[in-house]
Amino acid sequence: MTDADVLVIGAGFAGLYAVHRAVSAGLSVIGLEAAPDVGGTWYWNRYPGARCDVESVDYSYSFDEALQQSWTWSERFAAQPEILAYLRHVADRFDLRRHYRFGVDVIAADFDAGRWHVRAADGQTYAAPFLLCATGCLSAVNRPDISGVDDFAGDVYFTAAWPREDPDLHGKRVGLIGTGSSGIQAVPLIAGQAERLVVFQRSANYSIPMPNRPWSAEEQQQIREEYPERRRISAYASAGTPHGTYHKKAVDTEPQERVEALWRRWREGGVLFAKTFPDQNSDLAANDIAREFAEERIREIVHDPVIATDLTPVDHPIGAKRICTDTGYYATFNRDNARLVNLRREPIDAITPEGVRTSDATYLCDVLVFATGFDALTGALTRIDPSGPGGVRLRDVWAEGPVTFLGLMVPGLPNLFTISGPGSPSVLANMVLHAEVQVDWVMELVLTARRLGLTEVEPRRDAADAWTDHVTKAAERTLFPKAASSWYLGANIEGKKRIFMPYAGGFGTYRRHCDAVASQNYAGLVLTTRNTPQPSPTRE
Ligand code: NAP
Repeated sequence: MTDADVLVIGAGFAGLYAVHRAVSAGLSVIGLEAAPDVGGTWYWNRYPGARCDVESVDYSYSFDEALQQSWTWSERFAAQPEILAYLRHVADRFDLRRHYRFGVDVIAADFDAGRWHVRAADGQTYAAPFLLCATGCLSAVNRPDISGVDDFAGDVYFTAAWPREDPDLHGKRVGLIGTGSSGIQAVPLIAGQAERLVVFQRSANYSIPMPNRPWSAEEQQQIREEYPERRRISAYASAGTPHGTYHKKAVDTEPQERVEALWRRWREGGVLFAKTFPDQNSDLAANDIAREFAEERIREIVHDPVIATDLTPVDHPIGAKRICTDTGYYATFNRDNARLVNLRREPIDAITPEGVRTSDATYLCDVLVFATGFDALTGALTRIDPSGPGGVRLRDVWAEGPVTFLGLMVPGLPNLFTISGPGSPSVLANMVLHAEVQVDWVMELVLTARRLGLTEVEPRRDAADAWTDHVTKAAERTLFPKAASSWYLGANIEGKKRIFMPYAGGFGTYRRHCDAVASQNYAGLVLTTRNTPQPSPTRE
């Protein structure tokens, strides 16, 4: 079967839920996935140390109480193998694999005669009236074009496409380029294996220790009992988790009390530190308080003051770039076999067959690890570059930055849905609950359209412009745009328009916007009925 009611691209958290939701609604659905199995980002990012920075009990589906009660997370912050095992379990439990074609790399999508025609790299095409792109925010790998990169004689690995068989790095001289979340998580583990590790850092990042530990049996029982309440609080919370900020602004709190609040968050660990105080991400004075606290911790951990200075960010308020979480990152630079190279002082000239040559030295390497990130938020979509009626192309509509309606729909591209797309909270929220909210909204719209005999649903250009303007204004109320460079801004990719892409207005607020559009009969959308011949899909 290559025709269905709905096509879903991707088998990560969002794609699997979309397929489940469509099948449960009685629709025929084909899921397309480039990897050989389910997992999405958790399939590919299996580098040493890969772990989620949101607590396991929150970073999991909420749509099925029996699933929620039956799965037991072993640790506070789940590691990649456990998250992948969870997604495989979900695929089995809801029998989702049979709707998928794996190893299918989608390269194009065209809307013609009321249907999306999706083309894969192997030449196969698939068609359906509705197309859900659950292609991920961090899936289009950034492979930097450094001079000589193809000449390197040793092994090359990308954290974002780590081999299924974990390479043995014992006794190897490893060079690692990139110090975002992935590099920072991998560094301590690689230093523990390798003979020598050289970390090439262009920009330092703030990283908060992740005090991971196993959940005790009592805690697991308590989590099960409290799940409904935990989800109820999360449903309209600002980040889709039950955590809030301190009850007072940093600037209204006495110094001693502030330090105590910061210590509490530091010890809780993870990304929550970025939201210790309600004004931390909107007022530079408040941000400075948290930033200076974190910088003091770097100086405490790292023995060599020059290295500590090199590891201290110089180009952004804390949290304006995605805060990282680690297990012993800073302390790694106290080891004899780990070295930091500050590329701002000593830029890379070229990669040679033997290693990395900077302006000052050549670092001999047997292995190079690229932790160089992604063409985030838009990359996976613009690489497909869907084309609508009259040849409207996504890349053209987004030439000056992503224009969306609710971060979910694009003017000129009917029946196309971008789950976790730019213009939605996505990476600023709990991605799992976020995917559930968006997929539910889309499926409700698809079912309404089918019930009313509507063949095309598409946002009005003025409605999309208004939403995009709202997204920009929400970002302007924060310190996010103040980062010199970040993937939130698209600034890590050459030639990409610099614009803050996620919706910073909060998950709960976003959800209320989605609810309001649906309850106002989809205000902002153009709903059309055309008499186009429709092949009738077979159900699987
Ligand atoms: P990233 O944050 O974009 O970091 C990429 C790193 O590579 C940056 O340090 C960047 O330097 C460097 N880089 C890129 N091109 C380079 C070049 N040509 N020469 C030298 N350095 C170069 O990517 P990431 O670490 O994969 O993380 C992306 C996001 O994925 C995270 O922010 C997070 O949202 C998510 N993630 C989450 C977890 C978790 O849950 N714990 C783990 C991993 C990833 P510049 O900063 O100077 O550009």
